[in-house]
Amino acid sequence: MNNIKSDGFHTVEQIAPDTYRIDECGAANCYLAVGKERALLIDTGCGLGNLKNIVEQLTVLPVDVVLTHAHCDHAGGVGWYEQFFVHEADRTFVYSILSSRLAARAIIGKNGKRSDFAKLPFRPKPVTIRNGHVFELGGRRITVVHTPGHTRGSIVLLDDNHKIMFTGDDINPFLWMHLPGCTSLKEWWFDWRLDVVWMF
Ligand SMILES: [Zn+2]
Repeated sequence: MNNIKSDGFHTVEQIAPDTYRIDECGAANCYLAVGKERALLIDTGCGLGNLKNIVEQLTVLPVDVVLTHAHCDHAGGVGWYEQFFVHEADRTFVYSILSSRLAARAIIGKNGKRSDFAKLPFRPKPVTIRNGHVFELGGRRITVVHTPGHTRGSIVLLDDNHKIMFTGDDINPFLWMHLPGCTSLKEWWFDWRLDVVWMF
């Protein structure tokens, strides 16, 4: 979008009314869903540049932050905010390692400099959520569906009114199911997919 002041790391695309995709260096996507009273930031990238500044150019409303799962390319910028929502099953030691800045630096590798990573103002408080949690944004409801697989606490977020499903890494041509903390393929396939199909 032309009127967004770039930080050199993020680009913004409006994908639906009041809904934005924020690309971080072509390596990670965050989404911002804006209601009438609040906005929901879905994932926070690896922590490069100044994500909060980009979000503040898109909305003046209070922002809640939710992670589709606790991996470093989704949780890296979470410290721009004082608290974040995450599924309770992703609050274990293995996911704290996989979502750490150490892991983010390993992913960015030689292409990123240490100084590219933001110095984040907060050590944010995790607020755990479960299947069925609803984010009320004011005229817009976004519902959490627990989708264990890529991590045990992976979620997708359903926006019924706009017919949008924010899927994190779960629908992805390169879905990684080999990392520590991934479920078996059987669990990934059977535990939740039929539930989502029945909801539509
Ligand atoms: Zn992931």
